[in-house]
Amino acid sequence: MKKYDVIIVGGGASGMMCAIAAKEKNPNHNIAIIEKQDRIGRKLLSTGNGRCNLLNLNVDKSKYDGSFRKYIDLLIDKNCPVDMLDYFSSHGLSAKEETEGRVYPVSNHASSVLDVLRFNIENLGIETICGEAVSDIRKNGKFFEIKTNNNVFSAQKVVVSTGTQASSKLGGDNSGLNILKNIGIKTAPSYPALCPVKVKSNLLPSLKGLRVKGEVSLYDGKSLVDKESGEIQFTENALSGICVFNLSNKLNKVRKPVLKINLLPFTDDVYALIKRNSIVFSRQTAENMFTGILQKKLALAVLKQAKIKPSASIKSLTQSDYIRLCEILTAWSFEVSGNGGYEKAQVAGGGVLGDEIIPETMESRKIKNLYICGEALDIIGKCGGYNLYFAFASGKTVGESL
Ligand SMILES: Cc1cc2nc3c(=O)[nH]c(=O)nc-3n(C[C@H](O)[C@H](O)[C@H](O)COP(=O)(O)OP(=O)(O)OC[C@H]3O[C@@H](n4cnc5c(N)ncnc54)[C@H](O)[C@@H]3O)c2cc1C
Repeated sequence: MKKYDVIIVGGGASGMMCAIAAKEKNPNHNIAIIEKQDRIGRKLLSTGNGRCNLLNLNVDKSKYDGSFRKYIDLLIDKNCPVDMLDYFSSHGLSAKEETEGRVYPVSNHASSVLDVLRFNIENLGIETICGEAVSDIRKNGKFFEIKTNNNVFSAQKVVVSTGTQASSKLGGDNSGLNILKNIGIKTAPSYPALCPVKVKSNLLPSLKGLRVKGEVSLYDGKSLVDKESGEIQFTENALSGICVFNLSNKLNKVRKPVLKINLLPFTDDVYALIKRNSIVFSRQTAENMFTGILQKKLALAVLKQAKIKPSASIKSLTQSDYIRLCEILTAWSFEVSGNGGYEKAQVAGGGVLGDEIIPETMESRKIKNLYICGEALDIIGKCGGYNLYFAFASGKTVGESL
């Protein structure tokens, strides 16, 4: 059985960062990453639409959900985004800030981030054991036994950085969380997040492919849970777009989820606006009354939702028609029927409960020398670089604690 000082299970963003920080702190340590896929860091290549939004300069607690959230300030104090950028820079990566604090590599290619991490791992002499899925971790006296499909390894310290089952095509699964559960680590149930939200509406097929700027609110019955604005995309059976993705992070807490869309968030008086159009286009039919305001496809769907015939003359519309139209334009209600599933999810909520972890070191409170970092913890961030920031910052914290 091959013996190591440290074995890192999972060679994703957090595991790779952890390995580098650990080896730099203890150059004499024998460190290995065990990765089930045939190469480390595969998911990174798909992040940020292939550009890798590696962190966000505006990181703060409000961007996160989950039971580890209460400890995030500690992590940010220790590894603030500017320090993380310096760290990346000292390891060979040049990055730049774009809108809303989002940071990307100057090369505009995610492969730059992965290559920087890979080459540092190689140059530091960290062993990578790929194509081996860890199926069990047991503590035997002072050492851990780590079983894979082919081998058994032994290590004094183990880091679990296996991520979650989000995006199974890129290797996501819940094997790491199951292994942790088997050794007594408590977890919150997993759920797909940063994903489209399925809604009930027979109008969706006619809106498929449409993108509009607006505001989306998530309600639990009649209570507002959260609100986001940005581009809303309509698919055959779901609402999508970054603002919807961000709201999907909160779906697990909501019993009667409803999404309401405001198609005209920058208009103070929508009633006055459509009354204006009804005068300007008084000779036209209802299908033309949103001319200059909405795309035609959307205008037709709004009329259909309001049960107004597109062929009706604008002059024939009643006061109650105008009130219904205002309601749809500002708070078009869609009953949620589900989430987009793990296939389409960028992250998964749930995971190792925050209170299982000593936040300063990310070591398990129950099992000495067992550490957990990255998405396997019960924390998820909004779109914009917050999840990779957490993966890198938590991985670095573990590496420096080993
Ligand atoms: C399409 C897409 C785009 C994204 N874009 C962004 C973005 O631009 N910015 C951002 O902040 N976040 C983004 N994310 C989220 C971000 O990629 C993740 O939050 C982050 O990668 C989590 O890092 P991790 O190290 O915890 O897990 P992962 O990166 O998922 O790594 C876990 C690794 O463990 C391996 N593994 C799992 N189980 C085992 C096992 N039993 N044995 C051995 N190995 C195992 C996996 O193969 C994987 O390589 C995106 C996600 C997706 C899917």
